[in-house]
Amino acid sequence: MNCGRLQVQERECEESAIVRIECIIDEGDVEKGRLCGGVKLGRGAMTTATTTDVLAKNFVNGEWVESKAARIVERRNPANTDDVVARVPLSTREEMKEAIAAAKDAAAAWSDTPAPTRGKILFRAAHLMEGQKEELARILTREEGKTLKDARGEVQRAANIIEFMAGEGRRMNGETMPSELPKNFSYTLRRPLGVVGAITPWNFPVAIPVWKIAPALAYGNTVVFKPSTLTPLTAMKVAEIFHQAGVPAGALNVVMGSGRETGDELVQNRLVHGLSFTGSTEVGSHLYASGAKGLKKIQCEMGGKNPVVVMADADLSLAVEATAQGAFGSTGQRCTATSRVVVEETIADEFVKRLVERANRFVVGDGMDAGVEMGPSVDENQLQTVVKYIEIGKSEGKLLCGGERLTGGKYNKGWFVAPTVIDGIAVENRVAQEEIFGPVVSVIRVKNFDEAIEAANSVRYGLSSAIYSTDSNKIFEFVDKIETGMTHVNSPTVGGEAHVPFGGAKESSVGAREVGHAAMDFYTDIKIVYVDYTGRKRESNIY
Ligand code: NAD
Repeated sequence: MNCGRLQVQERECEESAIVRIECIIDEGDVEKGRLCGGVKLGRGAMTTATTTDVLAKNFVNGEWVESKAARIVERRNPANTDDVVARVPLSTREEMKEAIAAAKDAAAAWSDTPAPTRGKILFRAAHLMEGQKEELARILTREEGKTLKDARGEVQRAANIIEFMAGEGRRMNGETMPSELPKNFSYTLRRPLGVVGAITPWNFPVAIPVWKIAPALAYGNTVVFKPSTLTPLTAMKVAEIFHQAGVPAGALNVVMGSGRETGDELVQNRLVHGLSFTGSTEVGSHLYASGAKGLKKIQCEMGGKNPVVVMADADLSLAVEATAQGAFGSTGQRCTATSRVVVEETIADEFVKRLVERANRFVVGDGMDAGVEMGPSVDENQLQTVVKYIEIGKSEGKLLCGGERLTGGKYNKGWFVAPTVIDGIAVENRVAQEEIFGPVVSVIRVKNFDEAIEAANSVRYGLSSAIYSTDSNKIFEFVDKIETGMTHVNSPTVGGEAHVPFGGAKESSVGAREVGHAAMDFYTDIKIVYVDYTGRKRESNIY
């Protein structure tokens, strides 16, 4: 297939129906040339899939509705491209407007519902999600490609987040302040923003939507959720769980579609007061600027280029395992994935030797299969990006292992790439500066601790980091000086707990933190109240 900008081809499928295949490079999750892992179809078109697929629906005002979109994209299983997981409508701007209007209509009643009552509904959602963990994890693995073990972990994390947020219904506290005047006091209330938009990526399609939807609802907002078109079924299942738990009609709405059209409407629409985005820094900075024109409250969690610093006094076995897990786990498709390892030169040869041994033992395959440690890239576009960066890395440093697309046997039907280690990388090299989002780690050798800090901080991103050392002085100095929003001591760059804030520094993040009680700062405004109980005319002005 010759993919170019809005080229249209026609071919006959086995059933001799005409299928229109459009290759586009500028829309939606199709924004990066993605075809959602398959072809883009006109309505009613037939595919050559070997399995039954479903048409993803929108969820508006408490009803599952079929989009009227003329354009539909296929989502295929990244481990087996014969398996069509879903067909996803690229909903229209009008359909997004309808969902926003439904959220607006539901806003007053939901914000008037006592916060502990909202919390009770969320507790039910947490229990329902735990009860449906296996089903949801299997949808997630089939759709996104991560291992079933990782998928189960993600669902559990999401359920824990909902559970924590349910408790926020009883902790939505303001403050009281003494007055400078007698018989006066002031206090603050936390009020919901109103309608909130949530735009999410494909790599954690359960946990990330949940860590936006659950706090938004707990604090009394109504939500319009635009998931990635690469993960429509997980999005539907997440919404269904909130619905089953008793979230009322209109309080949570889902619209499938491209970022460029439905996402953009969510950013522009005047009825939307807050927007929570997770995705690439490029899209986030565009969206932040465009939402600012409408004076929306916006938070963006974006890309990373996360380093592990390994000092000469580190426990090498731990450091090697953590680097491998951080770099190759989830196929490197985590915003917190380890993509650089900064290692003191006196131990670098031994460290690299062991890392390569571990990389070569990493079991790559279909995430559904027992024993598999790493699944495929999410789609062909992502695979091509990874392969491109590997080629760049080969010219910038020395390829030690991996470095290619995996083919043959079970690999032929999926988008698999080998765990890759590139040594001899300088801080200014592209593979040390740009987010790759694949199982590729660059080794940067440094002389000492100061050089290590400088190398670790030499990127525009600032999401996560880790240090491996047994010297507590170095560890605390690292924590002081590392320019990342999250840092780990003697543990991998990845992972976060359900009640602990999550977010980055520099160009990885803008706006208030997500997750944990810190989420209240984004999803609420502070209302300030002054109370005079003298019963008399005030004799003096405060100022
Ligand atoms: P992406 O930026 O391409 O897309 C994210 C979402 O934004 C999708 O739903 C997409 O449809 C939408 N979108 C795209 N263009 C838009 C526009 N013009 N207006 C409105 N919405 C638009 O990211 P992706 O490829 O889905 O995800 C991978 C990226 O996400 C990586 O950069 C990764 O680091 C980042 N990420 C960050 C975090 C974090 O918490 N910091 C977590 C996970 C992923």
